[in-house]
This record gives sequence, structure tokens and C-alpha cells, in this order.
Amino acid sequence: MDEIENARRAHLSIPGPLADSPLLLNATHSYQNPILHKTELSSTPANPEVFAKLQAMIRDREAESHEPDSMGSISLAQMKMQATKAWVGSVEQEHDMWYRVRHHDLLQSLLARGSLPFHWPERVENPGLSEPQTLSSAYKEARDLGFAIPEQFLEAGERSSYGEKEAFYAATEFAENRCTFDLSDIDHAKMREVRQLSSSFLIPNWRPGAAPFVADQLWIVQGPEETVRFLVLEIDGEHHMNQRNQKRDEQRDAYFIDLGYEVYRVAGWWARIDPFRVIGDFLSQALGMTSFKSAFDFAPGNIREYVCFACNKPMVRWDDNWISADYRYLHEGDLSEEDSERVFVHRQCQCEG
Ligand SMILES: [Zn+2]
Repeated sequence: MDEIENARRAHLSIPGPLADSPLLLNATHSYQNPILHKTELSSTPANPEVFAKLQAMIRDREAESHEPDSMGSISLAQMKMQATKAWVGSVEQEHDMWYRVRHHDLLQSLLARGSLPFHWPERVENPGLSEPQTLSSAYKEARDLGFAIPEQFLEAGERSSYGEKEAFYAATEFAENRCTFDLSDIDHAKMREVRQLSSSFLIPNWRPGAAPFVADQLWIVQGPEETVRFLVLEIDGEHHMNQRNQKRDEQRDAYFIDLGYEVYRVAGWWARIDPFRVIGDFLSQALGMTSFKSAFDFAPGNIREYVCFACNKPMVRWDDNWISADYRYLHEGDLSEEDSERVFVHRQCQCEG
């Protein structure tokens, strides 16, 4: 797709009054005020015999002395992992199910057993590939599990909205600690506390028989001292801005909080222009990351200011390097390097070298 044409369409789609809205619309919690869930193991082992055997082996091995990183200490670490597995029992089925559709009850049962999944379907090793699960696919899987899903839901939502897709792609780049922004070491360490990120997370409806709620993104993040946090991130479209829908969103957020989720809402229209900044604002609030402000050296408060200095056409941050800094002489007669000023341009409009 042509970068400038893509940017032009994204800009045209955004109603004037929303162009200077905040990126983060609402947050029920923050890194200073999180909801923590204990991840302690249950009080009895699932496989007592296997567990006892492994414990004895670990004791024997520990009695011998081993240099760190030697074969002995590596196999000791493996034995300890096996022992944890023997305690938790087999969660293979649950992890398989997590791969198909992620939902509240499944998460609760995994949490109770002290085993949260590290893998998720959209996790890819290669950048540029992650797409969120579509609503219709999530609904189909949910129906197979016994959730009540009205027939029209299965046909609707065959595709995710453009803003949701962009936000999910940017989110994956951050969650995989892969983006090229200049973040501080502390913030990179914070990114490593993200245990998993997936799309289309189902939460049963409070009204019996009604279709489940679908949260756009679920982030599972390591908390202090054997705890985890469950962050729901919603990419709100323009229709969330009317009063009736805002009331509905408030009700839904309160219900999610009761179930143990922190809820963050970001502007879907901003996600069409600068998804990386949208996720950056969310992470600053949710994880307390502080280096984003300097990492996004181009960050105007109004969408209309996303204009290329070189060609004067609209810009979007379609990938982390699609808005580039460039140096230009702004005044006639400027010739020395010190006279050039930093401006922002489309990646393709950058001067060579
Ligand atoms: Zn340009």
C-alpha cells in the first residue's frame, strides 16, 4: 500500500472535533494502583508420587556442590521445573484451549493452579505479521465451548477494525520488546514483565444467556512478589463518545473491575494515526514507563499536525520508523551544518544519507 495514500485516508476518516483528543481516554487503574492476583501454587501436589521422587532427587543433587552454569546446576534447574509441573499437574489441555480462545473462566482456573500460559496464538517471531483474532473467529470458538452466541454475531466482525489492527500490531512490537524506539534500560526491563498479550478476550455476560463481552486486548503482566495483573485494553471507536454508550462502557468497566481486571481505554482514531504512541501512553499509565516521552520525538497534540515537512502531505506512524527526523535549511543563505534544523518527514521523503 502506498504510504501517503494510506495516511491521507486515515486522516480523512477522523472527525475534526476528535483531532486533538487525548490518546488515553480512560484508565481505571495504574502502575501505582494495580489489582494484584496471587500466583501461589495450591496446597497439595497434583502428582504426589512423582513430586516426592523429584524432591528426593533434588535433595541429593543439592548435597553435591556444583559450579553455577555447570551441567549439574542446569539439570538441577530442570528437576525443579519438573517438580513444579508435578505439583501443578497437567495443564496441557488448558493451554491448548488458551490457544483457541481465551476467556475469564479459563484464566481463573489456570491462575488457581499456579500456571499462566506464556504462549498465545498471535505470538510470532517475525515482526510485521501479528494480527488480532477476528471477532467472528473468537465467537465461533466460544460457541464450541458452550457459550451462548447469537447467529448474527458469527457473521458480523469477520474483520477487525483498522484501528484495532494497528493498535494490536504496535502492542505486539512492544510486548516482544522489538521496537526500535530508544527506551531506557529500566523500561526495557519493565517490558520483560509482560508475560503475554492476546486479542479477543472473552468475559461472560452478567445477563444469563447473553453473548459474552469481548475485550480487544488482554495483557498479563508480572506484579511484585508472586503476583500478576490482568490488563484489559479497549480500542474505542468514535461511537463510544456518545453519552448512552459512555454509560454502557462505565457499567462494563465496573463489572470487569469486580472480576479482577484493570481497564484502559484508548482512542481508536489515534490508533489509525500513531498506534505506537497510543500503546506508549497506555504503557506509561499501566507500567509506569517513563522514557516514551523522549522516545517519541515527534508527538504533536493534534492529529492535523501529522504533516510531512518535505511534501506537505499527511503522515501516520504505520511502522515504528515511518516518521523520520530530517535536517533542512529553513532560511535562505543557511549553509553550515549548524544552520540546519530538525524537521519530521515521511520515511520515503527523507534526504539520502
Ligand atoms: Zn512526505
